[in-house]
Amino acid sequence: MIQTAAPGEFTHRCAKVSFDSIYNITEDLRRGRFSVVKKCIKKDSSDEFFAAKIIKKRHLQQALNELRVFQLSCKHPNFIKLYQVFDLPTEAIFILEYAKQGDLQLILELEGYLEESQAIHITKQVLEAVAFLHENKVIHLDIKPQNILLMEKWPSTEIKLCDFGLSRILTNQCLLEISGTTDFLAPEVVNYEPLTYATDMWSMGVLIYVLVTGHTPFGGTTALNTQSNIAQCILDFPEDLFEKISKTCIDLIKNLIVRIPKHRITANVSLKHPWICSNEEILLKNSFDYENNDNDNNTLLSTINNNQYENNNN
Ligand code: ADP
Ligand code: MG
Repeated sequence: MIQTAAPGEFTHRCAKVSFDSIYNITEDLRRGRFSVVKKCIKKDSSDEFFAAKIIKKRHLQQALNELRVFQLSCKHPNFIKLYQVFDLPTEAIFILEYAKQGDLQLILELEGYLEESQAIHITKQVLEAVAFLHENKVIHLDIKPQNILLMEKWPSTEIKLCDFGLSRILTNQCLLEISGTTDFLAPEVVNYEPLTYATDMWSMGVLIYVLVTGHTPFGGTTALNTQSNIAQCILDFPEDLFEKISKTCIDLIKNLIVRIPKHRITANVSLKHPWICSNEEILLKNSFDYENNDNDNNTLLSTINNNQYENNNN
């Protein structure tokens, strides 16, 4: 059974005063799939900025789900904080901690791809956040660079995860849904099969691939084409993209982008993977060797006891 938030949970969290009496909008930030996010300043201050996420009431269910997850995520440092909620006639407004450096997609657009050391620092924090969600029975279902916010000026890599609009609280494993962003969708989403915590782990694999190469692993010319590539799960590591990428990085991707959900490693196991724990010296020594790469499925983590995985996924 999937738990969704009841409308009552929304009204009792809402501010009793009007948005306009407290905040002034200063600029538009980004438009997401379900919302517009604007920068605002508190009227009685000269430097207290926030992000106002404005959600149309026709997406109320997303807003309710998101509100529920915000109540949990405030306990973890790698999530954007929610401060206040306003209930307007046609919109809901969430007042969020403001990430002044924007989202990770902006950096990818500027830089093309990231240095592995930067990708590790970011991936580790996203994994910490995802592990926290999974421990609290929440699946995020929309992990991608646009939903990873930068808290300090690049190349500082302090990040926070945002956007719980598609998140679900899972009380057993029978969530069937097509949602998310095509490039990051897992095969079980495309095939309308049950979703589990492992669905997020597939997206983590795609995220790492994108961060270190600037390319998506299954991107086709159309969304349908991409979905067909995902369903077939033909994962390759083209030499021109992976020449300088470490074996340990490729190993982690191979442990996450796996067709059968229960064969993917969990967030907690990923946090112990040599790539996440590695330092730059090890990365250089491990640089991918094409001569010796037989593209087999043996991975550094093949020794991890499957039971550990099963336990973490139930
Ligand atoms: P949607 O559900 O519509 O995708 P998001 O929560 O992902 O909404 O917000 C849309 C975009 O707005 C994000 O991709 C990000 O670029 C920007 N954004 C969201 N929250 C913040 C924030 N707290 N600070 C700065 N920018 C933000
Ligand atoms: Mg988003």
